[in-house]
Order: sequence, then structure tokens, then C-alpha cells
Amino acid sequence: MRAILFDRDGTLIDDLPYNNDAKHVRPRPGARIVLDRLRAAGIPIGVITNQSGVARGLITLRELSEVNARVEELLGPFDVWEICVHGPADGCACRKPAPGMVLSAAARLGVRPADCVVIGDAERDVAAARAAGARGVLMTSDLESAVRMANFLR
Ligand SMILES: [Mg+2]
Ligand SMILES: [Zn+2]
Repeated sequence: MRAILFDRDGTLIDDLPYNNDAKHVRPRPGARIVLDRLRAAGIPIGVITNQSGVARGLITLRELSEVNARVEELLGPFDVWEICVHGPADGCACRKPAPGMVLSAAARLGVRPADCVVIGDAERDVAAARAAGARGVLMTSDLESAVRMANFLR
């Protein structure tokens, strides 16, 4: 079984730096359709997201969960969420480009990291995938093309 792990900001939804308001969540074009096709195909999907706004005191945990609930309301359910709430100086194992969230998501999904593809709009998403032994795909245009590039859709 293969799985796809998506970055959140700039990949699934528009990137509003340190957004703490569920009202401002806007899906990326075509994201819902692509995700529903993956769900219909029985492919496990997850989200791995750096949210250092929490460590910086700009986003409360409650606001974070409201934003993520809004993401699922607009884009449908994900099988796993991995969220790093630390700051760059915390030295945690989860903040991308560290591999922690990829490894943890794979374990929770019951798949090998090598069977995961990470799709994101930033080089650190690809680096986190590589560090975990997964494959990274940098999203250069739209989500559907990136998923296609990962050989998940024909
Ligand atoms: Mg991003
Ligand atoms: Zn972390």
C-alpha cells in the first residue's frame, strides 16, 4: 500500500502566513477533486504541516484545531494529521525538513516510509521526505499535476 502525505499551507490551501482564523481558509484550485479521487481509489492520505506560529505565540492550539477542522470541512477527511507546533530554534525532530512527521505518519498509516510520497510547495517538504526515506514531489503548478507526477493518478 502506498500513501500520500501533503503539506498544508501553499499546497492544500492558500498560504496565509500564521493564519489563526478558520474563516480565511481557502482551498487550492482543484484540491478537493484530486483528494476525492485518491479517497475513492482507497489511497491513504495525510497532512504534515509546520505550524511554528504556535511556538511564536501567534496561533493558539484552539485556533489551530479550528483551522484544521475547516480544512477538513472544505477538503474532506484525512487519514492522519501530523503537526509540528515548535519553532525553528526548538531543535525538535518533527519540524520539516526533519523527517519526524513523515516517519510518524507512515507508522500511523501502517505503511513503510519508502512507500510514501510527500507533496509540498517548498524545498523543505522534499527534504523531509528524502530524510525519511520517502519520495518528495515539489508542487510547481497545481495539485493534480503533482499527484500525477507521483504516479498516483493516470
Ligand atoms: Mg507549504
Ligand atoms: Zn516539531
